[in-house]
Amino acid sequence: MPPLPRLVHLLRSARAWMALGVLAPIGMLAASGLMLFDLRQDARDKAEQTSKNLLQVLEHDIARNIELYDLSLRAVVDNLKAPGVDRISPELRQLVLFDRAATAQDMGVMLVLDENGSSIIDAGAVPSRNVNNADRAYFQAHKAQANLGLVISEPLVSHLTGARMLVLSRRIDKPDGSFGGIVLGTLNLSYFTRLFSQLDLGRDGAINLYLRDGTRVMRHPYSEADIGVNIAGAPTFEGFLREHNGSFVETSTRDGIERHYTFTRIGDLPLILNVALSTDEIEADWRVKALTIGVIVLMLCGLTIALSLLFGRELRRREVIQAELAKLSLTDALTGLPNRRAFDDAFARASGGARHSGKPLSLLIVDADHFKRFNDRYGHQVGDQVLQGLARCLSDSVHRPHDLVCRVGGEEFAVLLPDTDLVGAFRIAEKVHAEVSALAVGSAGIGAGAVTVSIGLAASVPAATEVTALADLYRLADEALYEAKAGGRNQTHCAKPHDPAITPLKHALRLMR
Ligand code: GH3
Ligand code: MG
Ligand code: MG
Repeated sequence: MPPLPRLVHLLRSARAWMALGVLAPIGMLAASGLMLFDLRQDARDKAEQTSKNLLQVLEHDIARNIELYDLSLRAVVDNLKAPGVDRISPELRQLVLFDRAATAQDMGVMLVLDENGSSIIDAGAVPSRNVNNADRAYFQAHKAQANLGLVISEPLVSHLTGARMLVLSRRIDKPDGSFGGIVLGTLNLSYFTRLFSQLDLGRDGAINLYLRDGTRVMRHPYSEADIGVNIAGAPTFEGFLREHNGSFVETSTRDGIERHYTFTRIGDLPLILNVALSTDEIEADWRVKALTIGVIVLMLCGLTIALSLLFGRELRRREVIQAELAKLSLTDALTGLPNRRAFDDAFARASGGARHSGKPLSLLIVDADHFKRFNDRYGHQVGDQVLQGLARCLSDSVHRPHDLVCRVGGEEFAVLLPDTDLVGAFRIAEKVHAEVSALAVGSAGIGAGAVTVSIGLAASVPAATEVTALADLYRLADEALYEAKAGGRNQTHCAKPHDPAITPLKHALRLMR
């Protein structure tokens, strides 16, 4: 079958519609699932890009400020080595050592401490305010080891001002290389609070600044309790240590909220900055869209399935009705036997088969004798019962699967016998006579032997006869039936055979009865 008609044929079948009804929604679900997945990835990508931009700006600001402050500290270390600095007046020395960086908004104090931790030069006062920081870890670190460079302390409370701050410090070496004290500058944590406070990161978003050892320097939104807490070992912090910068999704140990973390080191400093956005908030818009699209797609899928099932059911019902009608159109209502149309089809098929195989084909035409009389005497209804009885007798007379008994007229039946020669067909005819002779309709008082039939028999062997013989078979059988009627009824007459050898057989068979 060419593709287009095959498609049309397929679309007529109930099963195809049911399959389509299931496959189409599965396709729809898969496509919308992919689309939603893509949309969610878009939302995450957008959040990551925003975080990265933010991080870049913040990192740049912090790195630049600390670098400038460190330059001031280096200047102090270098200038202290200048010849004669130790001999000039304290006021002049303060002017020489400290630049304007020390007076910037969030800078606290800038001091030079001697090797015992006592302040000896103070950017903010002459003479120096009296303070000793020998107990501080950064002082001890510089004392214990040279070449530490810039050391950034954990968040501390200033001895002098009471402000929360970070201490940036550098070691001062004596000419012989031994420890000669430190220079320190403090950076108030207010710098970070002010820097971060302008940013809106949603209800659960946060910015964190950590020291490399896991100590939290600052968090936005600000909470006093968060400052100075060490989170080394937490999964989030492990993530920050893995690379110089990057991003990942992790659940915070602080509050159990899942966040998308984007992080970076600040230059070469021991500081890690991250922007964390709640995944819930990142996907909030997407969830509304996903829910709307999901509900619509599910409804459409449900509708498609329901319509396909209904359509499929209707098609199946029609198929059943059509099959029923087709069967009815080929069946005789009174006897339940195949009717004339069915006989014509079967006869055409059997003729073709016989021509193809070269095997014989026989046909009996069976007609009730004086049937009109039964009708006249017992009524039409009893006549019907007799016809039903005759149908049974005929059906009981054949046994091969391809033998076919049909009602081809009022009280006329045909028996088609494929692969059966004249002798075999005659035996069947005799069986029919025997069965009919036993037929009785007790309720009407019709006893056995009352009903008789006449049979016209024709047999054909395609290989031995002309091709047209098969088409003539019915006519030959009909003529034979006429002969049987003329011969006194209740008998079988064989059609005048093309093969003269059949004539003696007919005679012989007659003698048998
Ligand atoms: P013959 O021996 O020559 O065949 O005589 P006959 O009476 O059988 O033949 P005829 O053709 O004269 O009459 C056939 C009768 O069969 C006429 C009709 O009333 C009857 N008949 C045809 N179909 C039916 C049917 O379905 N039911 C009944 N009860 N009678 C039918
Ligand atoms: Mg008749
Ligand atoms: Mg008749």
